[in-house]
Order: sequence, then structure tokens, then C-alpha cells
Amino acid sequence: MAITPSVFLAFRPAWQKRLNQQITRCFSASAQQRVDFTHAVIGGGAVGLAIARQLTLSRPDTSTILIERHGAIGTETSSRNSEVIHAGLYYGHNTLKTDLCLAGKFKLYDLCDKQGIPYRRTKKWIIAQDEQQMSELEKVHKFASEVGYDQVPTKFLTRDQISEREPYVRAEAGVLESESTGIVDSHNFMQFLEADFLDNGGTDVLHTSVSRVERLPSGNYKIYTKTMDPLSTTGFTQPIEDEDAIEVETLINSAGLAAIPLSNSILPDHRQIKPYYAKGTYFSYASSHPKPKTLLYPAPVPGLGGLGTHLTLDMAGRVRFGPDVEWIDSPDAAGALSPNPNQLKEALDMIATYLPSVDRSAVDLDYCGIRPKLGKTSGTAGPTFADFYIKEEKDDGFPGFVNLLGIESPGLTSSLAIAEYVENLLYGSQTGQGRNVDVDEAKSRGRKGQKNFDFHH
Ligand SMILES: Cc1cc2nc3c(=O)[nH]c(=O)nc-3n(C[C@H](O)[C@H](O)[C@H](O)COP(=O)(O)OP(=O)(O)OC[C@H]3O[C@@H](n4cnc5c(N)ncnc54)[C@H](O)[C@@H]3O)c2cc1C
Repeated sequence: MAITPSVFLAFRPAWQKRLNQQITRCFSASAQQRVDFTHAVIGGGAVGLAIARQLTLSRPDTSTILIERHGAIGTETSSRNSEVIHAGLYYGHNTLKTDLCLAGKFKLYDLCDKQGIPYRRTKKWIIAQDEQQMSELEKVHKFASEVGYDQVPTKFLTRDQISEREPYVRAEAGVLESESTGIVDSHNFMQFLEADFLDNGGTDVLHTSVSRVERLPSGNYKIYTKTMDPLSTTGFTQPIEDEDAIEVETLINSAGLAAIPLSNSILPDHRQIKPYYAKGTYFSYASSHPKPKTLLYPAPVPGLGGLGTHLTLDMAGRVRFGPDVEWIDSPDAAGALSPNPNQLKEALDMIATYLPSVDRSAVDLDYCGIRPKLGKTSGTAGPTFADFYIKEEKDDGFPGFVNLLGIESPGLTSSLAIAEYVENLLYGSQTGQGRNVDVDEAKSRGRKGQKNFDFHH
């Protein structure tokens, strides 16, 4: 049967239909619109969405609002990445990155199966050209064995296996295969998270930028917001309205590239930190030859801010290369999100090390993503490694404020596990109900504990 648009629409998962019925909303233009929510999540990327959904799912007698400055969810880093479901190979023992990546990977595959979110178990090769690179692969393999091959299956391939499966790959010293690496349609994933969050009674406001936050004597947080120009797709236009404010019990800073500046605006002097940004440029490939079926990564380079310019596939099977690493001062500077032509030659040279027959004339600049970094830190375990920073800031007098900083790769893979982790930070072993919330009072607020709140459409 031909898949016409009407056939496709008829067989879409229910959550996609639900989203299409949704109307873009932002805070009311009229003053005096105040509302209390139990939780406010700032930032509608994959991580913020996962957290907001988790809180509505497992805390049914609370209310959650998600605040996003753009006119749609997931338009920043969450849609400017490789869409790889990482196996959890690189981040060392006793780190959040390893633990949350491992847990998140299994949860993500499960969710994709259950909800019809497109994904593929592509597998991944890490390729060594010399003894030094081979020793890096040995370290990865040893780490996987220590974690447990049931968690992170890896194996070295024979020369015959390499040439039979990917005849165009050059691997002078060897290939380590990661079986549990895959790719996911990140847009579908985020659309599902948003629809499920809304279906469970969550509220999202778009075109709304958090301008400042104040901790009130009551212990609650007052969030001041500005409505952004709804006609803007970039979000870099000026706010169009006066400040508005809402009051919430808990605050989750999941603002991605803006998370450190936001944290600095809330926490005291001794907690001020400098944000770092590592831009990654992607390169398109307009040739059908060579066309590998597996994701191809060079051996990790100790100290590098990323994983090296690799080859990934999108859900349509298209090859793309990248991302490389380029340190920039600000994600808002002119050109920050434009691919840098000066990066092309270096990328081509790197790609040719593992794919020598690549058609150089078919490789072109594509798009960029920016990694939110806690320093000039490496993408893999080692002396300059930095873990995710995910903490409730109660030691500094901000209970109920959960800060998520440096949520770079593998943040997409880890998002569902990060969501459970954040819920646990806020509630520990308490189950089912809200934090300091009077359940009857919350119920009387209306649907799933939300007070009456006017939106304009
Ligand atoms: C080049 C690159 C490649 C990557 N590849 C992978 C990969 O293959 N696999 C993987 O697992 N991870 C990967 N990652 C990491 C992954 O993309 C991120 O960890 C993840 O998307 C972070 O999601 P987030 O929700 O924290 O941030 P974001 O997606 O950045 O979302 C934050 C949101 O907050 C909003 N916001 C900011 N400030 C405000 C404010 N004041 N008011 C209201 N809203 C605000 C923003 O508009 C944005 O929508 C990659 C990252 C990069 C940069």
C-alpha cells in the first residue's frame, strides 16, 4: 500500500495526533496573572521535557510548568546533535555520565519500542590506526568489561569481519565494536515527551524567557518572565511585554546553554562559575559512495573536548560527519551557530584516516551544535574530564532548587534517567505525592493540581 499523507496520518501514534491539536501558548499579556505550581522546569530541551514528564507521571497530586523561551520545544542543543544513543563507554567509573547514560540507554530503547519512536540499533565501530590508538581501544574495552558486558557489550573484530562488513573502512590496527550503540529520531522523542507531559496534566508555556528568580521568605521561588516575540523563530529578538511573575515551590534549571548564567543569577558570589562553550560543526555528504551501515568513530583522543569527527547516520540512512571541536566565547554571538568554513579541511583529513575513499568534493558544511561546558574539559575520562553537575542546592540555602549544568553529551541518551535522578533528588524515597503540598488543596486547584491560569493563544 502506498503511504500517502492521509494513510500516514491515520496510523500515526496517538501522541502525535495529540500534539497536532495543541495550540502554541504563552503567558497572558494581561497583568495580575499569578499562579502557583509545585514544580517549574526552565528549558524545553530533551532533558527539561523528560524531567517535566517524569514529575507529572509519578507525582500526580502536584502541578508542573515547563517554561521555554522559543516558540517550540527542542530547538537548541537537543536538535543540534548526532542523535546517537550512546552505549556508555567513555566516562569512567563512579560518574553520573556513565550511570545515567547506561540507565538512560535502556530506558530510551524501551520507550522507543513501546511508543513507536523511530530508532535503529546501528552499532558503532571505534577505529585504531596505530598502536597508540589501539591502546585507547583496549582501555575502552577494559572499562566495558569492568562495568559488565551485559551493560556495555564490546568486542574486537577480526580483519575478515572488518573487510566483509565495511569494505571501505581503513583500520590499520583494529576495530572495537559497540553493539548497544544506536540512533534515535530526537524530534519524535521530544514530541512524545511533550505530548505525554501535557496528557498527564502538565502545562507548558512557550515564547517565555525566565529573566530572573527570587527566593521568597516562604521558601518558594518567584520566577520573573518576559514574553518573547512569537513571530521569531530564533528567540534572539527583544521581549515584547513587561515582566510577569509566577510563584513555585521547586525550581529546576534545565536551561542548557543558558543554565550557568541562570544559576549565577540565583546563587551567591562564591558559587559563580564561568560558562564554556565548545562548538561542533557537522558536514553533509552528497554522495552514495562509500555508504557504511555502522557508525564510525576514530579512537578517542585524550583531552579532546569531543569524540573526534565521526561518521553517523540519520534515520533516513544519510551519512553525516562531525562534530569537531571549536571553543567559542558565547553561544549568542553573531555566527555562533553558523558552520565555520575554516574547519572543513581539518575535518576532511580526519575523515580520510578511516574512510580513505571518501569523495572530498561531496562533503560540505551542514549545521552546528554547541556543547555547554564546565571548563575546557575532555569528552572522555581523564584528568580534564568533567561530570554532569546535577544537584539540589540546599547546602547553599536553596532547597527545592535543582541545578543541571554542563549537560553535554551523553545528555540526550541520559535524559530519561536524569529525569528520575532529579525526581529522586527532590523527593528521595517519598512516593506518589507532592513535596510540602496539601493534596486536597492541590486537587481543588483543578486538573492535576493546577490553579486557574489564563493563556492567550
Ligand atoms: C554537537 C553535539 C553533539 C551531541 N551528540 C549527542 C549524541 O549523539 N547523543 C547524546 O546522548 N547527546 C549528544 N549531545 C548532547 C545532547 O544534545 C544534550 O546533552 C542535550 O540535548 C541537552 O538537553 P537540554 O534539555 O539540557 O538542553 P537544550 O536542548 O539546550 O534545552 C535547553 C532549553 O532551555 C531553553 N532556555 C534557555 N534559557 C531559558 C530561559 N531563560 N527561559 C526559558 N527557556 C530557556 C532553551 O531555549 C532550550 O530550548 C550532543 C551535543 C552537542 C552540542
